[in-house]
Amino acid sequence: MTQETPCATSYDVIIIGGGIMGASTACFLSQNKDFQGKVLVVERDPSYEFASTSHTNSCMRQQFSTSLNVKISQFAADYVKNLGTYLADARVPALSIQNFGYMYLAGDEKMAQTLRANHAVQKAAGAATRLLSRDEIAADYPFYQLDDILLGSINTVDEGFFDGQAVFDWQRRISREAGVEYIKGEVIALTKNAAGNRIESVTLATGEVLSCGQLVNATGPRAARTAAMAGIALPVEPRKRFTWMFSAAKPLDRPLPLTIDPTGVHVREVGGGIYQAGGHTEHDPAVEFDDFTMDHSFWQAHVWPVIATRIPQFEAIKVTTEWAGHYAYNTLDQNAITGPHPEISNFLFLNGFSGHGLQQSPAMGRGTAEWLTYGAYRSLDLSPFHYGRILANRPIRESAVI
Ligand SMILES: Cc1cc2nc3c(=O)[nH]c(=O)nc-3n(C[C@H](O)[C@H](O)[C@H](O)COP(=O)(O)OP(=O)(O)OC[C@H]3O[C@@H](n4cnc5c(N)ncnc54)[C@H](O)[C@@H]3O)c2cc1C
Repeated sequence: MTQETPCATSYDVIIIGGGIMGASTACFLSQNKDFQGKVLVVERDPSYEFASTSHTNSCMRQQFSTSLNVKISQFAADYVKNLGTYLADARVPALSIQNFGYMYLAGDEKMAQTLRANHAVQKAAGAATRLLSRDEIAADYPFYQLDDILLGSINTVDEGFFDGQAVFDWQRRISREAGVEYIKGEVIALTKNAAGNRIESVTLATGEVLSCGQLVNATGPRAARTAAMAGIALPVEPRKRFTWMFSAAKPLDRPLPLTIDPTGVHVREVGGGIYQAGGHTEHDPAVEFDDFTMDHSFWQAHVWPVIATRIPQFEAIKVTTEWAGHYAYNTLDQNAITGPHPEISNFLFLNGFSGHGLQQSPAMGRGTAEWLTYGAYRSLDLSPFHYGRILANRPIRESAVI
């Protein structure tokens, strides 16, 4: 009697992580007529309670210092505003962008120079960014205290809040209906072939082994842990970011742009007298994957004083909700890491989004699906963000990071 070795269930593509990056990739793959394979998304926590995607502030901007990042957000705006057309589904409701814009405030000449340089990049890429003198800011937004401000930069076209949760829900629904499988499971090991240049299978915490043609690492702040399972070093770590929702006793009489104070604290309009603020402590270490504790003293000692100084009308405000989330922080250059590993060619990165991943997910999902299908990009060339720059220690510095 011979004992049979059970055959591992096999998929053409396994995506580890079902947050917005995994969902977007699965969705674009499922819609690509040239891709005929079997796709699996493995997600350790389908409630997504602690995923970055659930802790996001869900805003998009055109104001980046890198032309490619501007183009990535321009596609995001088009995708969100035409989601039903992109998903080819009449059930999808029309979504819009709440165009309050981002207002970057420069408090010294160095910051002002950065805004001017970024403005040139953004204009060349077709963004509608405007530089405003102190007087011009005061005329349009009289609620700011501007004594210490030299220059502002704002864009109110395709810049502001969008319903990222709706995009996420629809992408999962459409891809599931098209045959993508989603399972609950934690990937704990990756097995390579004898030559060490391909991932053959993933092992789940249950012991189940699933073989894969290609593998996508879409594990957000845990991306380095996943890469390490294949012996790959990835400079991505969880960094804590705090969010507060507050109501104002005297709401502003016009929309508050997402204002980035020179201190780094940011605050924006939500609607109905509610506002949202965010920030991080100056000491900004990597944290444990499951550490989401709030630092309550930080609001009182730093964030609220900054807000009340910048907008004196916000002297009387009341925090209604607060939470801590994790950026998947790319310590080399705070930019995306995409594409295949140069030696383990069926291992694809989708990592390191450092606070701008929600808006980048349409372009990243589309590009990764193209790479999985054709071995090349067909729309936007994302190769500048490939892992090779990490190995070569060639950062693509993004100076407009929040
Ligand atoms: C406070 C805050 C505000 C933000 N604001 C904005 C914003 O305004 N605009 C913007 O564009 N971006 C913003 N971001 C960033 C954005 O939310 C993230 O870049 C984006 O959600 C990342 O998506 P992801 O799919 O890569 O990661 P995640 O959403 O974290 O998803 C990764 C998934 O992988 C799963 N996983 C991990 N390891 C395993 C494993 N071994 N096996 C199986 N599953 C696994 C996790 O459970 C998780 O669900 C913000 C982030 C934070 C924290």
